[in-house]
Amino acid sequence: MSIFSTSLSRPIASFSAISSSPSLCFLKSHHQNYHNFGFQGCSQSLVISCCFSELGSSSEPINISRQPQVTSMASFTMTLNENGTLQSSYKWRRVLLKVSGEALAGDQEQNIDPKVTMAIAREVASVTRLGIEVAIVVGGGNIFRGSSWAGSSGLDRSSADYIGMLATVMNAIFLQATMESIGIPTRVQTAFRMSEVAEPYIRRRAVRHLEKGRVVIFAAGTGNPFFTTDTAAALRCAEINAEVVLKATNVDGVFDDDPRRNPNARLLDTLTYHEVTSKELSVMDKTAITLCQENNIPVVVFNLNKPGNISKAIRGESVGTLIGGTRDSANSRT
Ligand code: UDP
Repeated sequence: MSIFSTSLSRPIASFSAISSSPSLCFLKSHHQNYHNFGFQGCSQSLVISCCFSELGSSSEPINISRQPQVTSMASFTMTLNENGTLQSSYKWRRVLLKVSGEALAGDQEQNIDPKVTMAIAREVASVTRLGIEVAIVVGGGNIFRGSSWAGSSGLDRSSADYIGMLATVMNAIFLQATMESIGIPTRVQTAFRMSEVAEPYIRRRAVRHLEKGRVVIFAAGTGNPFFTTDTAAALRCAEINAEVVLKATNVDGVFDDDPRRNPNARLLDTLTYHEVTSKELSVMDKTAITLCQENNIPVVVFNLNKPGNISKAIRGESVGTLIGGTRDSANSRT
Protein backbone atom coordinates (compact mmCIF):
# COMPACT_ATOMS: atom_id res chain seq x y z
CA MET A 1 0.00 0.00 0.00
CA SER A 2 1.42 3.33 -0.95
CA ILE A 3 0.97 5.69 1.95
CA PHE A 4 3.12 8.66 1.22
CA SER A 5 4.39 10.30 -1.88
CA THR A 6 5.93 13.71 -2.16
CA SER A 7 8.90 15.63 -3.44
CA LEU A 8 11.66 16.61 -1.08
CA SER A 9 14.58 18.98 -1.21
CA ARG A 10 18.01 17.45 -1.53
CA PRO A 11 19.43 16.62 1.91
CA ILE A 12 16.32 15.15 3.40
CA ALA A 13 15.36 12.65 0.78
CA SER A 14 16.17 9.47 2.59
CA PHE A 15 14.64 7.78 5.57
CA SER A 16 14.40 4.28 6.84
CA ALA A 17 11.88 3.29 9.44
CA ILE A 18 13.20 1.76 12.62
CA SER A 19 9.84 1.52 14.33
CA SER A 20 6.57 0.47 12.85
CA SER A 21 4.45 2.26 15.43
CA PRO A 22 1.62 4.00 13.54
CA SER A 23 1.42 6.90 15.93
CA LEU A 24 5.07 7.74 16.38
CA CYS A 25 8.06 6.66 14.38
CA PHE A 26 11.70 7.42 14.79
CA LEU A 27 13.09 7.67 11.33
CA LYS A 28 16.68 7.90 10.43
CA SER A 29 17.84 10.36 7.83
CA HIS A 30 21.16 9.82 6.17
CA HIS A 31 22.20 13.39 6.61
CA GLN A 32 21.21 13.96 10.17
CA ASN A 33 20.91 11.74 13.16
CA TYR A 34 17.67 10.22 14.37
CA HIS A 35 14.61 12.39 14.10
CA ASN A 36 11.32 12.16 15.78
CA PHE A 37 8.57 12.03 13.18
CA GLY A 38 4.97 12.53 14.19
CA PHE A 39 2.66 10.36 12.10
CA GLN A 40 -0.99 11.31 11.99
CA GLY A 41 -2.50 8.47 10.12
CA CYS A 42 -5.80 7.43 8.75
CA SER A 43 -6.50 4.54 6.43
CA GLN A 44 -5.88 6.60 3.28
CA SER A 45 -2.96 8.87 4.03
CA LEU A 46 -0.32 9.95 6.45
CA VAL A 47 0.98 13.43 7.15
CA ILE A 48 4.58 13.43 8.19
CA SER A 49 6.00 16.32 10.16
CA CYS A 50 9.54 16.47 11.33
CA CYS A 51 12.40 18.59 12.58
CA PHE A 52 15.55 18.94 10.52
CA SER A 53 18.76 20.07 12.12
CA GLU A 54 20.05 21.51 8.84
CA LEU A 55 17.19 23.95 8.79
CA GLY A 56 18.10 25.48 12.14
CA SER A 57 17.77 24.61 15.78
CA SER A 58 14.06 25.26 16.10
CA SER A 59 12.22 22.49 17.84
CA GLU A 60 9.05 23.38 15.88
CA PRO A 61 8.04 20.48 13.66
CA ILE A 62 8.18 21.35 9.96
CA ASN A 63 5.76 19.88 7.48
CA ILE A 64 7.80 18.34 4.68
CA SER A 65 5.21 19.19 2.09
CA ARG A 66 5.63 22.88 2.88
CA GLN A 67 9.40 23.05 2.76
CA PRO A 68 10.25 26.59 1.62
CA GLN A 69 13.81 25.98 0.44
CA VAL A 70 13.31 23.43 -2.29
CA THR A 71 16.18 23.60 -4.76
CA SER A 72 16.52 20.29 -6.56
CA MET A 73 13.40 18.18 -6.43
CA ALA A 74 13.73 14.47 -5.92
CA SER A 75 10.71 12.29 -6.33
CA PHE A 76 10.35 10.33 -3.13
CA THR A 77 7.79 7.67 -2.37
CA MET A 78 7.52 5.48 0.67
CA THR A 79 5.47 2.35 0.86
CA LEU A 80 4.30 0.25 3.76
CA ASN A 81 5.25 -3.38 3.39
CA GLU A 82 3.42 -6.35 4.88
CA ASN A 83 5.47 -6.13 8.08
CA GLY A 84 4.14 -2.64 8.63
CA THR A 85 7.48 -0.92 8.06
CA LEU A 86 8.16 1.93 5.71
CA GLN A 87 10.44 1.46 2.78
CA SER A 88 11.64 3.55 -0.11
CA SER A 89 10.10 2.91 -3.50
CA TYR A 90 13.46 2.44 -5.19
CA LYS A 91 14.25 -1.12 -6.15
CA TRP A 92 17.49 -1.31 -4.22
CA ARG A 93 18.16 0.03 -0.75
CA ARG A 94 21.86 -0.82 -0.66
CA VAL A 95 23.97 -1.52 -3.73
CA LEU A 96 27.48 -2.64 -4.50
CA LEU A 97 28.91 -0.80 -7.48
CA LYS A 98 31.89 -2.49 -9.11
CA VAL A 99 34.06 -0.14 -11.16
CA SER A 100 36.87 -1.76 -13.10
CA GLY A 101 40.24 -0.11 -13.52
CA GLU A 102 39.72 -0.15 -17.27
CA ALA A 103 36.55 1.89 -16.89
CA LEU A 104 38.38 4.41 -14.68
CA ALA A 105 40.99 4.92 -17.35
CA GLY A 106 38.41 6.12 -19.87
CA ASP A 107 40.10 7.07 -23.12
CA GLN A 108 43.11 8.57 -21.35
CA GLU A 109 46.62 7.36 -21.99
CA GLN A 110 47.31 7.85 -18.31
CA ASN A 111 45.97 5.34 -15.84
CA ILE A 112 43.00 7.29 -14.64
CA ASP A 113 40.70 9.84 -16.20
CA PRO A 114 39.53 12.54 -13.76
CA LYS A 115 36.48 13.12 -15.98
CA VAL A 116 35.40 9.53 -15.35
CA THR A 117 35.92 9.73 -11.58
CA MET A 118 33.99 13.02 -11.51
CA ALA A 119 31.14 11.54 -13.55
CA ILE A 120 30.95 8.60 -11.14
CA ALA A 121 31.03 10.93 -8.14
CA ARG A 122 28.23 13.13 -9.51
CA GLU A 123 25.96 10.21 -10.30
CA VAL A 124 26.61 8.53 -6.97
CA ALA A 125 25.87 11.85 -5.24
CA SER A 126 22.51 12.04 -6.99
CA VAL A 127 21.43 8.66 -5.63
CA THR A 128 22.83 8.94 -2.12
CA ARG A 129 20.55 12.00 -1.83
CA LEU A 130 17.65 9.67 -2.46
CA GLY A 131 18.77 7.54 0.45
CA ILE A 132 20.17 4.62 -1.49
CA GLU A 133 23.29 3.30 0.21
CA VAL A 134 26.25 2.87 -2.11
CA ALA A 135 29.34 0.76 -1.56
CA ILE A 136 31.97 0.59 -4.29
CA VAL A 137 34.60 -2.00 -5.15
CA VAL A 138 37.31 -0.63 -7.43
CA GLY A 139 39.50 -2.67 -9.71
CA GLY A 140 43.13 -2.00 -10.52
CA GLY A 141 43.60 -3.33 -14.03
CA ASN A 142 44.32 0.17 -15.36
CA ILE A 143 47.54 0.15 -13.32
CA PHE A 144 48.56 -3.44 -12.73
CA ARG A 145 47.05 -6.85 -13.40
CA GLY A 146 48.80 -9.62 -11.52
CA SER A 147 48.18 -12.40 -14.02
CA SER A 148 49.76 -10.37 -16.86
CA TRP A 149 52.95 -9.72 -14.94
CA ALA A 150 53.40 -13.04 -13.13
CA GLY A 151 56.52 -14.78 -14.36
CA SER A 152 58.28 -11.72 -15.73
CA SER A 153 61.65 -11.07 -14.11
CA GLY A 154 61.00 -13.80 -11.60
CA LEU A 155 57.85 -12.20 -10.24
CA ASP A 156 55.74 -14.93 -8.70
CA ARG A 157 51.95 -14.80 -9.04
CA SER A 158 51.28 -13.98 -5.40
CA SER A 159 53.66 -11.02 -5.38
CA ALA A 160 52.20 -9.83 -8.68
CA ASP A 161 48.71 -10.05 -7.25
CA TYR A 162 49.69 -8.07 -4.16
CA ILE A 163 50.95 -5.34 -6.49
CA GLY A 164 47.61 -5.54 -8.29
CA MET A 165 45.78 -5.13 -5.00
CA LEU A 166 47.90 -2.09 -4.18
CA ALA A 167 46.85 -0.65 -7.53
CA THR A 168 43.21 -0.85 -6.45
CA VAL A 169 44.09 1.21 -3.37
CA MET A 170 45.48 3.97 -5.58
CA ASN A 171 42.26 4.06 -7.57
CA ALA A 172 40.19 4.03 -4.38
CA ILE A 173 42.03 7.00 -2.91
CA PHE A 174 41.65 8.93 -6.15
CA LEU A 175 37.94 8.19 -6.28
CA GLN A 176 37.52 9.09 -2.61
CA ALA A 177 39.22 12.45 -3.17
CA THR A 178 36.92 13.16 -6.12
CA MET A 179 33.82 12.19 -4.15
CA GLU A 180 34.78 14.35 -1.20
CA SER A 181 35.60 17.29 -3.47
CA ILE A 182 31.89 17.49 -4.30
CA GLY A 183 30.80 16.91 -0.73
CA ILE A 184 30.08 13.18 -0.58
CA PRO A 185 31.38 11.77 2.70
CA THR A 186 33.42 8.73 1.66
CA ARG A 187 35.48 6.15 3.49
CA VAL A 188 38.03 3.78 1.99
CA GLN A 189 38.43 0.40 3.65
CA THR A 190 41.28 -1.86 2.62
CA ALA A 191 41.35 -5.65 2.82
CA PHE A 192 44.82 -5.48 4.36
CA ARG A 193 46.06 -2.85 6.73
CA MET A 194 47.32 0.44 5.37
CA SER A 195 46.23 2.48 8.34
CA GLU A 196 47.94 5.70 7.31
CA VAL A 197 45.81 6.00 4.20
CA ALA A 198 42.60 4.10 4.86
CA GLU A 199 40.57 2.20 7.40
CA PRO A 200 40.95 -1.56 7.60
CA TYR A 201 37.94 -3.49 6.34
CA ILE A 202 35.58 -4.01 9.25
CA ARG A 203 32.19 -5.25 8.13
CA ARG A 204 30.14 -3.68 10.90
CA ARG A 205 31.90 -0.38 10.54
CA ALA A 206 31.31 -0.41 6.80
CA VAL A 207 27.61 -1.01 7.36
CA ARG A 208 27.48 1.80 9.90
CA HIS A 209 29.09 4.19 7.43
CA LEU A 210 26.51 3.25 4.82
CA GLU A 211 23.66 3.77 7.27
CA LYS A 212 25.02 7.23 7.94
CA GLY A 213 24.87 8.04 4.25
CA ARG A 214 28.58 7.69 3.58
CA VAL A 215 29.88 5.99 0.49
CA VAL A 216 32.27 3.16 1.32
CA ILE A 217 34.98 2.21 -1.17
CA PHE A 218 36.42 -1.25 -0.66
CA ALA A 219 40.00 -1.50 -1.85
CA ALA A 220 42.66 -4.22 -2.11
CA GLY A 221 40.13 -6.73 -3.40
CA THR A 222 39.64 -9.70 -1.13
CA GLY A 223 43.14 -9.27 0.32
CA ASN A 224 44.16 -12.60 -1.22
CA PRO A 225 46.16 -13.35 -4.34
CA PHE A 226 44.58 -15.48 -7.08
CA PHE A 227 41.29 -13.62 -6.78
CA THR A 228 39.81 -10.69 -8.67
CA THR A 229 37.97 -7.57 -7.71
CA ASP A 230 34.81 -9.06 -9.24
CA THR A 231 35.01 -11.75 -6.59
CA ALA A 232 35.68 -9.04 -4.01
CA ALA A 233 32.51 -7.28 -5.21
CA ALA A 234 30.42 -10.43 -4.81
CA LEU A 235 31.98 -11.16 -1.42
CA ARG A 236 31.52 -7.66 0.01
CA CYS A 237 28.00 -7.50 -1.43
CA ALA A 238 27.10 -10.67 0.47
CA GLU A 239 28.83 -9.52 3.64
CA ILE A 240 27.19 -6.12 3.90
CA ASN A 241 23.79 -7.38 2.74
CA ALA A 242 23.73 -5.26 -0.36
CA GLU A 243 21.01 -6.33 -2.75
CA VAL A 244 22.78 -6.23 -6.07
CA VAL A 245 26.17 -6.07 -7.75
CA LEU A 246 26.18 -3.31 -10.38
CA LYS A 247 29.07 -4.00 -12.68
CA ALA A 248 30.06 -0.84 -14.53
CA THR A 249 31.91 -1.63 -17.74
CA ASN A 250 32.79 -0.08 -21.10
CA VAL A 251 30.12 -2.07 -22.97
CA ASP A 252 26.32 -1.87 -22.90
CA GLY A 253 25.85 -5.23 -21.23
CA VAL A 254 26.10 -8.88 -22.21
CA PHE A 255 25.72 -9.74 -25.92
CA ASP A 256 24.96 -13.06 -27.58
CA ASP A 257 28.11 -12.57 -29.68
CA ASP A 258 31.08 -10.24 -29.74
CA PRO A 259 29.61 -6.91 -30.96
CA ARG A 260 33.02 -5.79 -32.25
CA ARG A 261 33.12 -8.69 -34.70
CA ASN A 262 29.43 -9.28 -35.30
CA PRO A 263 27.32 -6.17 -36.03
CA ASN A 264 24.17 -8.25 -35.54
CA ALA A 265 25.12 -9.24 -32.01
CA ARG A 266 22.12 -8.81 -29.71
CA LEU A 267 22.20 -7.20 -26.29
CA LEU A 268 20.67 -9.64 -23.82
CA ASP A 269 18.15 -8.19 -21.40
CA THR A 270 18.24 -10.90 -18.74
CA LEU A 271 20.25 -14.05 -18.13
CA THR A 272 20.29 -16.79 -15.55
CA TYR A 273 23.48 -17.61 -13.64
CA HIS A 274 23.44 -20.98 -15.36
CA GLU A 275 23.41 -19.37 -18.81
CA VAL A 276 26.42 -17.27 -17.87
CA THR A 277 28.46 -20.24 -16.70
CA SER A 278 27.30 -22.85 -19.24
CA LYS A 279 27.83 -20.52 -22.23
CA GLU A 280 31.08 -19.30 -20.68
CA LEU A 281 30.05 -15.69 -21.16
CA SER A 282 32.86 -13.42 -20.06
CA VAL A 283 30.81 -11.36 -17.66
CA MET A 284 32.69 -12.07 -14.47
CA ASP A 285 35.10 -14.78 -13.46
CA LYS A 286 33.55 -18.06 -12.39
CA THR A 287 34.32 -17.63 -8.69
CA ALA A 288 32.49 -14.29 -8.65
CA ILE A 289 29.42 -15.47 -10.54
CA THR A 290 29.19 -18.63 -8.43
CA LEU A 291 29.37 -16.57 -5.25
CA CYS A 292 26.54 -14.39 -6.57
CA GLN A 293 24.48 -17.44 -7.51
CA GLU A 294 24.98 -19.15 -4.15
CA ASN A 295 23.93 -16.01 -2.33
CA ASN A 296 21.10 -15.08 -4.69
CA ILE A 297 22.76 -11.78 -5.60
CA PRO A 298 21.60 -10.36 -8.95
CA VAL A 299 24.20 -8.72 -11.16
CA VAL A 300 23.56 -5.82 -13.53
CA VAL A 301 26.16 -5.31 -16.25
CA PHE A 302 25.94 -1.86 -17.80
CA ASN A 303 27.89 0.83 -19.64
CA LEU A 304 29.46 3.40 -17.36
CA ASN A 305 30.24 5.75 -20.24
CA LYS A 306 26.62 6.62 -21.01
CA PRO A 307 25.63 9.64 -18.93
CA GLY A 308 22.96 8.79 -16.39
CA ASN A 309 23.56 5.05 -16.51
CA ILE A 310 25.18 4.75 -13.09
CA SER A 311 22.34 6.53 -11.34
CA LYS A 312 19.78 4.58 -13.38
CA ALA A 313 21.39 1.29 -12.41
CA ILE A 314 21.56 2.29 -8.76
CA ARG A 315 17.91 3.40 -8.76
CA GLY A 316 17.01 0.00 -10.17
CA GLU A 317 15.86 1.24 -13.57
CA SER A 318 16.19 -1.04 -16.56
CA VAL A 319 19.71 -0.74 -17.93
CA GLY A 320 22.21 -3.16 -19.43
CA THR A 321 21.84 -6.88 -18.73
CA LEU A 322 20.38 -8.30 -15.54
CA ILE A 323 21.72 -11.66 -14.38
CA GLY A 324 19.89 -13.78 -11.82
CA GLY A 325 16.85 -11.58 -11.31
CA THR A 326 13.67 -10.32 -12.92
CA ARG A 327 13.16 -6.82 -14.22
CA ASP A 328 9.90 -6.01 -12.55
CA SER A 329 10.32 -7.31 -9.01
CA ALA A 330 12.80 -6.48 -6.33
CA ASN A 331 15.12 -9.33 -5.50
CA SER A 332 14.87 -10.50 -1.93
CA ARG A 333 17.98 -12.05 -0.48
CA THR A 334 16.69 -12.54 3.02
N1 UDP B 1 43.77 -8.88 -7.05
C1 UDP B 1 44.06 -9.96 -6.21
N2 UDP B 1 43.09 -10.36 -5.33
C2 UDP B 1 41.88 -9.78 -5.25
C3 UDP B 1 41.59 -8.73 -6.13
C4 UDP B 1 42.55 -8.30 -7.02
O1 UDP B 1 45.13 -10.51 -6.24
O2 UDP B 1 41.06 -10.20 -4.42
C5 UDP B 1 44.83 -8.36 -7.93
C6 UDP B 1 45.01 -9.15 -9.22
O3 UDP B 1 46.38 -9.17 -9.52
C7 UDP B 1 44.27 -8.30 -10.23
C8 UDP B 1 44.54 -6.90 -9.72
O4 UDP B 1 44.53 -7.03 -8.31
O5 UDP B 1 44.77 -8.48 -11.52
C9 UDP B 1 43.53 -5.88 -10.15
O6 UDP B 1 42.23 -6.38 -9.96
P1 UDP B 1 41.26 -6.74 -11.18
O7 UDP B 1 42.05 -7.36 -12.27
O8 UDP B 1 40.12 -7.48 -10.65
O9 UDP B 1 40.84 -5.27 -11.61
P2 UDP B 1 39.85 -4.81 -12.78
O10 UDP B 1 39.93 -5.82 -13.89
O11 UDP B 1 38.50 -4.76 -12.19
O12 UDP B 1 40.37 -3.46 -13.16
